[in-house]
Amino acid sequence: MIICGKYVVTLDSADRTIPRGAVAVRDGVVVDVDVEENIRSRYEAEEVLERRDHIIVPGLVDCHTHTQQYLLRSAIDDEMLQLPPVWTKLLVPFERIMGEELARLSSRASIANMLRNGVTSFIEAGAPYPEVLAEEVLASGIRGFVTYATYDIAEEKVAEPRDVLDRVERLYRDYSNRGDNLRVWASIRQVMMVSEELLEGVIGLTKKLGLGLTLHLGEYQGEVDYVLSRYGMRPLEYMVRRGLGDVDSVVIAHGVYLSPGEVRILRDRGFCLCWCPTVDSWLMGVHWAGFEDVGGVRLGIGSDGGAWGRIDLLHEAKIAKALSKAVGTSIRYYKAGMDSRTILRVLSGSVGTALGERVGRLERGYRADVVVLDVRSVRNLPVIDPVDAVVNYLEGDCVTDVVVGGRLLVEGGELKTIDEGELLEKLLDKEDEVREKIAELRRNIGARPPI
Ligand SMILES: [Zn+2]
Repeated sequence: MIICGKYVVTLDSADRTIPRGAVAVRDGVVVDVDVEENIRSRYEAEEVLERRDHIIVPGLVDCHTHTQQYLLRSAIDDEMLQLPPVWTKLLVPFERIMGEELARLSSRASIANMLRNGVTSFIEAGAPYPEVLAEEVLASGIRGFVTYATYDIAEEKVAEPRDVLDRVERLYRDYSNRGDNLRVWASIRQVMMVSEELLEGVIGLTKKLGLGLTLHLGEYQGEVDYVLSRYGMRPLEYMVRRGLGDVDSVVIAHGVYLSPGEVRILRDRGFCLCWCPTVDSWLMGVHWAGFEDVGGVRLGIGSDGGAWGRIDLLHEAKIAKALSKAVGTSIRYYKAGMDSRTILRVLSGSVGTALGERVGRLERGYRADVVVLDVRSVRNLPVIDPVDAVVNYLEGDCVTDVVVGGRLLVEGGELKTIDEGELLEKLLDKEDEVREKIAELRRNIGARPPI
């Protein structure tokens, strides 16, 4: 396949942006990126995607999402946010009562939403029905890191550690060899939601099976106080003490409340930090990642799932840039902040590379995960610098084509592996059922029902 565009933003080792460029793809991998004329003379393609008014960028990586919280979209208002922490009041309880059918709908809708917005890889923070999610990953062709919602405490004990570990192991056994696009990982919901026995078990299992691990950490002041008062150290220090440092790939979601010592741990151990610009701002405050020197920290950006917005990493890029400048200017009267190129790199590459996946660049030998953005609109032109255009004002709506591992999953704005019409009908059909479940959860905590 050859994909031609007005600009190809490669983010490759020479950091090239190629006007009238083209990407050549064979067997799911990028084999060449150059000006179109050269590519056309070198290769005979079975399929040519001519996108003359478009910017081509590497696929985006959502490094923290909850695919099975999608149906909570527009259900979290300020009244809920006043009852912290909201995950114990609404998000986790909803996961526990949603049932398999809604989990399937939620997973499919999340994946459709991600693909339409140019997300080619995602890391699931912990799904209550991970098998359902794994099946949807396989059917859709997206690249997914699937994990089970791993906890045994939700304000009170809700499961036996052994049963939780068995479920993770079963997931690994059933789905770890199901193709290139699906990875089974481990997760820890949060330090306050796991017993010491489960924590030890998960880290042990992770090492035994060679899994990556993702966890929420440094997301809530009560969590920091909880660990400090129990163990006399901060959450990340405690996790390292319990063996996290020996895990190969670690992705820490949020990490808003990290001490300088904990940031040093991130750097020294090569842990990835996933900044969620919108949700961190809603729930936690201003993230330091936007304005402090994050050199050496492997940084990614996440949506935290469809409950909060349209799972649009290009939109997150704008929030990230605005936050970076607002804080830099307020604290140091320094306006440069995090530049567009760094943000785009963070959106598409740094986490993927850290995971051992060759994604995030359009360069020979990298996986052919490619996103095409249409700029032919009065809302988008003129484009003087394509990287600034992508980060400053283009959003998921501009995505016309998405390729994952050389396979076209979105073409001309249409999903190729998911029936979007049928999906929309199902979402509409289930709206009342979801509203009723949310009303019940809100009644339980004395909040007013949704309309
Ligand atoms: Zn989360």
